Amino acid sequence: RAKAQRKGHCQVFDTAMHTFAVNQLRLETDLRRAVERDELALYYQPLVNLASGEIDGFEALLRWRHPERGLMSPAEFIPVAEDTGLIVPLGNWALREACRQLSAWQVQFPALRPKVSVNVSAVQFAQPDLADVVLQALASAHLEARYLKLEITESVLMDSGDAAMQTLDRLQDQQIKFLMDDFGTGYSSLSYLHRFPLDILKIDASFVQKMEKEAKHDEIVQAIVALARSLNMEIVAEGMETLGTLARLRELKVGFGQGYLFSQPLDAEAAGRLLASRRHW
Ligand code: C2E
Ligand code: MG
Ligand code: MG
Ligand code: MG
Repeated sequence: RAKAQRKGHCQVFDTAMHTFAVNQLRLETDLRRAVERDELALYYQPLVNLASGEIDGFEALLRWRHPERGLMSPAEFIPVAEDTGLIVPLGNWALREACRQLSAWQVQFPALRPKVSVNVSAVQFAQPDLADVVLQALASAHLEARYLKLEITESVLMDSGDAAMQTLDRLQDQQIKFLMDDFGTGYSSLSYLHRFPLDILKIDASFVQKMEKEAKHDEIVQAIVALARSLNMEIVAEGMETLGTLARLRELKVGFGQGYLFSQPLDAEAAGRLLASRRHW
């Protein structure tokens, strides 16, 4: 009986594995065609200057308008894209599209001059031509480099070889700003911050979201803020959802914030309307 049960268990497991594998394969095939079929879109979430309450710029976030599955979030397809190397064409598309859109907004809103930040994964950063791709995207959009920021995580710095370091140097020389995303969730954030001089530090949402309810997390945020200041880095708090966190982060003189409190990520048209409305917090 036990044996039969074990066997049954295995079959369930095999079936689940099989379904998973088939799904992944399907996703990969679909994703390969997504760029050609124009199914990718960028959504834009505002970054708010906490002192003035005004929109400083947007983070560009990738979405996939899948013909059957509907609007898919990056959590569902970025891992597959990274495993298969498809993140390279996808990421290149995102860079070009974000620059194009930003350039259009700068023409439309010359007084506001919004900025845009684009996420770049470790796989992209390992490509020796990333700097060329970025500079080419700026050039074809007629966009000045200082309006573009690149968001990287610790894993980019962890896995990086000489080529990645050259990319970082070359782009920083051009006034492109680098932002350390999800700060505090990695393994050895501190040593990386000293080794690689990045411009902006983004406090991970997990700390920001718990700081109101737990003193411990408020203290962690305070420590990160002090660290960023001592390294001359600008600070962004991500995942802000409540007025309480807004008040507290203003008290701590955190420069910028991002989160559902201000806005969800919006399609380009809605983001343009938000800019036009001059809404502030
Ligand atoms: P991330 O760069 O840390 O982006 C922040 C994520 O938090 C976004 O999820 C955003 O929609 C979500 N978020 C923003 N405000 C709030 C809030 O107040 N509460 C909560 N609960 N969530 C909030 P999204 O758009 O699903 O993106 C997930 C991740 O996918 C990103 O994390 C980034 O690592 C990756 N990603 C997105 N677009 C790209 C891209 O173009 N290229 C690459 N390589 N990665 C991307
Ligand atoms: Mg990001
Ligand atoms: Mg983040
Ligand atoms: Mg995050």
